[in-house]
Amino acid sequence: MYLMQCHYCESGAAYAAEKNGIKVGLCEQHFRKRVEELADSEELQALREQINIDRTDWMRS
Ligand SMILES: [Zn+2]
Repeated sequence: MYLMQCHYCESGAAYAAEKNGIKVGLCEQHFRKRVEELADSEELQALREQINIDRTDWMRS
């Protein structure tokens, strides 16, 4: 069950990230894309902290 829709497409959001106080939903595909874009940035650190609440098994392995 998805509570949010992906910010970039029609898919249901698998992850929720908060940016500038606005909650943004991301599907699996777009989430990974964002992570690649944000690699080594402070924003990624914040995103990682945020998603630790959700399922991040693919990141840990
Ligand atoms: Zn998407």
